[in-house]
Amino acid sequence: MIAPQHHDIVVIGAGIAGASIAYEIISRGHAVCVVESECGPATGCSSHAYAIAHPHITRGSAKLLQLTRIAFELALARWGDQWVHRGALQPIKNGLDFDADAIALQLSELGLRPEIAFPVSAEQASQLAGVARAGVWFPNAGMLSLEKTSKELLQPCAQLTQINQVRIDTLMREGNHWLLSDTTNKISIRANKVIVAAGLSSKKLLSSIQIKLPLKPVRGQLSFFQIDSKSDWITRLPRAIICGDGYCIPASRLENGNMRWIVGSSFDENESDHHPRFESDRFNQAQAAGLLNYAEGNQSELTPDGQFVGIRCVAGDRLPIIGALPQRPGIFVATALGSRGILWSALAAKLITDQVLAGDFALLTRLGFTSALAAALAPDRFLAGGAAPALGAFASNSNPILPPSPRAR
Ligand SMILES: Cc1cc2nc3c(=O)[nH]c(=O)nc-3n(C[C@H](O)[C@H](O)[C@H](O)COP(=O)(O)OP(=O)(O)OC[C@H]3O[C@@H](n4cnc5c(N)ncnc54)[C@H](O)[C@@H]3O)c2cc1C
Repeated sequence: MIAPQHHDIVVIGAGIAGASIAYEIISRGHAVCVVESECGPATGCSSHAYAIAHPHITRGSAKLLQLTRIAFELALARWGDQWVHRGALQPIKNGLDFDADAIALQLSELGLRPEIAFPVSAEQASQLAGVARAGVWFPNAGMLSLEKTSKELLQPCAQLTQINQVRIDTLMREGNHWLLSDTTNKISIRANKVIVAAGLSSKKLLSSIQIKLPLKPVRGQLSFFQIDSKSDWITRLPRAIICGDGYCIPASRLENGNMRWIVGSSFDENESDHHPRFESDRFNQAQAAGLLNYAEGNQSELTPDGQFVGIRCVAGDRLPIIGALPQRPGIFVATALGSRGILWSALAAKLITDQVLAGDFALLTRLGFTSALAAALAPDRFLAGGAAPALGAFASNSNPILPPSPRAR
């Protein structure tokens, strides 16, 4: 039997979620150990190099809209200076009338200041994005490589212990500690606090302590299209990120004079096959035509020339799972980031760190985060007898329990 290593705080998983949380804990002066089953950070879904971030403004619960606004503000503050491509256009749906005043009112009701989102006419959109479609402009939206960012967040430093190529299989309570072990018995780690940020594998890991979370895979494919320099598509290509049903990023010129254009993403529920698929490229060709409102474009001129395939982890209610597990004191969860890895990692970093270190939630409170929103993210929303106030469970007497906001009820 090998002697366990002891660490106060351990993060399982070195994707964008685990890396963001570890970085935040370290930046508040604490040591952390990150355990990753692969050879280094960002080999799973976070190997994605073309992820975009903007607040969510349509379809979805009031809580989701509030949460993406708060998460976007956090992501912008954290990574805004690293955005590749700044600004994104979300065109209004075909057939809907564009009413700038009504949209401006709706955006302000969502708490979205003009620095974050404002309505644009087709003419303004054409100037800003090169696509003449009225809609909403997010001047500070952007794109980030999750792979590069995860690696940068986990740069070696004195307070970071990184253990790679170790797959934690079980968590076990041992006195006041948690014991983490792998089936090969290569390692055994004793920890006071454990943050499970292992994407889909969080389900299996947590089942070792009888916590069952409804996590499922959703396969997604991003297509890298090559477009001949003489194709009619060339004059249509956007100069900014376009989002809506799918998304695309500005095209870049290849050495041969053709253009490379990245468009995504497909959604295959309950599938976890990493192989690129012809049908997913076809789906993305159709999404490309939809984003540009170019139904007459010859989609076969978007020639597939590479793909990114990733397996998203989603929860039954499509919200992320972020928070403490009051039923298992010392265990915290950050998973089910779905298609919003940037936003939810930025939020998870602040929320989990405040919970782990018994912080004061001051920044989150200032941004409008409430107990009701915390409860909407908490893992125990899926557990019998759950839905305890997620912040309250970890707030000491000196840490206020946030009042639920009337809008969040
Ligand atoms: C096609 C596609 C397009 C997307 N587009 C966007 C976008 O535009 N914007 C956006 O924000 N997000 C986007 N996403 C979502 C984003 O990629 C994910 O939400 C994010 O990468 C999830 O990060 P994670 O850290 O939770 O999981 P992962 O990146 O999967 O990290 C989990 C880590 O845990 C490790 N691990 C697992 N089990 C164990 C174990 N037992 N022991 C130790 N380590 C373990 C894994 O090896 C992995 O490194 C997209 C995803 C896809 C698939």
